[in-house]
Amino acid sequence: MHCPFCRHTDSRVVDSRTSEDGTVIKRRRQCPSCGKRFSTMENASLTVVKRSGASEPFSRAKVVTGVRKACQGRPVGDDDFALLAQQVEESIRAKGVAEIDAHDVGLEILGPLRRLDEVAYLRFASVYQAFESLEDFEAAISLLRLEAQRRPEDTTATVSGQRDDQ
Ligand SMILES: [Zn+2]
Repeated sequence: MHCPFCRHTDSRVVDSRTSEDGTVIKRRRQCPSCGKRFSTMENASLTVVKRSGASEPFSRAKVVTGVRKACQGRPVGDDDFALLAQQVEESIRAKGVAEIDAHDVGLEILGPLRRLDEVAYLRFASVYQAFESLEDFEAAISLLRLEAQRRPEDTTATVSGQRDDQ
C-alpha cells in the first residue's frame, strides 16, 4: 500500500478493525518514511455479476428479498430467512471465488430453500428455472420425492419392518 502523502511504497499496519457484518476490514496504517497515518478499507465481500454485466457486492438482504415472495403464506420466519441467506453466503464463499454470476447465486439458494420449505422451493424454482408446463412441476416434485426417499435419516419416524439390520 503506497503512502498517499509521499508515495513511499511500504506502510505499517497500526490497527485493524472489522465491520460488524465482517465484510470490511478497516486498517490504520503508518508510513515508515514520512510518519503520516492513513486508513485503508479492505472489502472482503463477494461480487455478484448480473446478467447485464453490472456487478454489485453480494448481499444477504438481496437473497432474502429473492426468496421472501416464494415463501408467502408459508411457515417461514425471519430467523429462517437469515439462516438461509447465511447458508447461501457460506456455500458461495466455500467455492473460493471472489465473483459469482447472479444466476449461480440463485442455484445456491435452491438447496437450502428446499430443506426449509418444499412448497416455497417449488415456487422459487418455477420462476427461477422458468417452468413452462405441468410436466416441469411434476419432474421437480418427482425429484423431491426421490430425494426424500434417499434421506431416511432426515425423518424421525422410521418404518420398522423395512430396515435391514446390519
Ligand atoms: Zn509517507
